[in-house]
Amino acid sequence: MSRKAEPRRAYDVVIVGAGPAGLGVACALQAAGVEDFLVVDRHGIGASFDRWPKETRLLTPSFPSNGFGMTDLNSIHPETSVAYTLGCEHPTGAEYAKYLRQVAEHWELPVRTGVDVHSVETHHNGDARFHLDTSKGPLQARYLVWAAGEFQYPSRPFEGADLCMPVGQVKAFHKVPGDEHAVIGGYESAVDAAMHLAAAGKRVTVVGREPAWGKRSAEPSISLSPFTQERLQDTLQQHKGRLRFRSAEVSSVTETKDGYRIKAGRRSFTTPKPPLLATGYDSSLALLQPLLGTQQPELDPDTDEVQDVPNLFLNGPFVQHGESPFCFIYKFRARAPVVAAAIATRLGRDPLEMVAAWEEAGMYVEDPTCCETQCAC
Ligand SMILES: Cc1cc2nc3c(=O)[nH]c(=O)nc-3n(C[C@H](O)[C@H](O)[C@H](O)COP(=O)(O)OP(=O)(O)OC[C@H]3O[C@@H](n4cnc5c(N)ncnc54)[C@H](O)[C@@H]3O)c2cc1C
Repeated sequence: MSRKAEPRRAYDVVIVGAGPAGLGVACALQAAGVEDFLVVDRHGIGASFDRWPKETRLLTPSFPSNGFGMTDLNSIHPETSVAYTLGCEHPTGAEYAKYLRQVAEHWELPVRTGVDVHSVETHHNGDARFHLDTSKGPLQARYLVWAAGEFQYPSRPFEGADLCMPVGQVKAFHKVPGDEHAVIGGYESAVDAAMHLAAAGKRVTVVGREPAWGKRSAEPSISLSPFTQERLQDTLQQHKGRLRFRSAEVSSVTETKDGYRIKAGRRSFTTPKPPLLATGYDSSLALLQPLLGTQQPELDPDTDEVQDVPNLFLNGPFVQHGESPFCFIYKFRARAPVVAAAIATRLGRDPLEMVAAWEEAGMYVEDPTCCETQCAC
């Protein structure tokens, strides 16, 4: 396992979240010579991935291409390849969590699991700036890296959404009871759920406001990934008639004697089982609301430090600079060395060697506004 962290209370750096974002920053911090840091997680390493439905796989392909300077898209350390570790191109969530645990073990990252952070306050008390109230008692840190993700905070954006089942809470699509379903949402998770339900012999209606299935863009956070487009074509051919798509905004779900009535645009339809909810995620940043005052704080483009809260850094899918969302692993991992370099420098370490190694591996993006994608064909 990862290095067993001593139960101390005050650290130079505390990282909240042992997913790819938190561990990615931990790897970069360690490589920059920072020793006094701790990663905490309410569950375990890679807990969000361990909760994915059994059939769901990473969309971004893994390939052992590191030797040519094109580091495996899902790796969080330049010296690892997910494809090499796991022997597959599109790992399941459980497989990817296994890779994360191997990274933590190999680099002996100091991780404490079962530590749920309830709230964070700032005030000066000796060197510590951040005071964390956790399920295992208080923790203090001079620098805080928030990497608690989004997956464990599903959004419920319309009336009656509580009656629905978030796709992130489905253990396996083939085990969902019933043979007729509605999936609400228009992006990857909705289409993924619909395809697995159809493959399990069920009839599915997908309802989405701005459906990604009709869009084409070079930016993968706007249109469906090639992996999903290919699978969707196969599903439509193999399971003709089982999949239907409706483009409409869902405004409410109500329970009736026949099932669940979904109001979509001006029309309504009824489905016998609780609709599956694939409308995205709220952010764990909600927990920092008293400090941030907003859900989308301004970040220093040079460091990803929250502009109004000195020494608080973010990493993960909620990092956004201008029109560039950092919502995939290969995107936010490129900001991990930026965060680590800023903290290491302030702690009197020299991060240059680490930055050079991450940059050589294509895992370092200095200018976060550089990433708007244009493809010529
Ligand atoms: C179905 C699906 C498919 C996806 N496919 C891809 C893909 O192919 N490629 C890609 O790059 N991205 C993909 N993504 C997005 C990717 O999974 C996320 O961007 C990624 O998980 C974010 O990593 P993270 O470390 O920020 O968050 P997480 O992996 O969610 O890790 C956050 C950790 O923080 C812990 N935590 C949360 N709150 C607290 C708290 N209060 N106290 C203590 N610990 C806490 C959690 O237990 C968790 O372990 C996909 C997402 C989904 C849902």
